[in-house]
Amino acid sequence: MNARAAIEELLHAGHGNKAIAKRVHVRHQTVAAIRAELGLPNIVRPAKTTCSDDAFWQRTQPVDGGHLNWTGHYNSTGVPCLRTTDGMLTAYRIAFRIRWQRDPVGPVKPGCSMDRCVHPDHVEDQPMRQQYEAIFGEAA
Ligand SMILES: [Zn+2]
Repeated sequence: MNARAAIEELLHAGHGNKAIAKRVHVRHQTVAAIRAELGLPNIVRPAKTTCSDDAFWQRTQPVDGGHLNWTGHYNSTGVPCLRTTDGMLTAYRIAFRIRWQRDPVGPVKPGCSMDRCVHPDHVEDQPMRQQYEAIFGEAA
């Protein structure tokens, strides 16, 4: 598929100019020009995306101990991830946003006993880890 066809397909699928530009590796002005040519309206997306929530839950499976297993894609370093309109995000980040309704600060990792657990209640960002360390010490 050439870039132009890919852009048209993504435009029709309802993606934003910048998201398409990033995916197809063109300037967003190029996407905007094609959008105008096709007579498609500009999409104004809210600053915070919630559209990946459903996709997240569809790729999870509850396991023993109240943890959540990721059945979706793993990147080359073994981190669970999901392709969204914002690009590739780790499942941890999406879980974090679902739980806290805000973007995490620094890397998000599971803070529970299960490797690669993506349970929204079990993931922690940098400030949360530092807080626990301050309370429970480095070993926590
Ligand atoms: Zn867990």
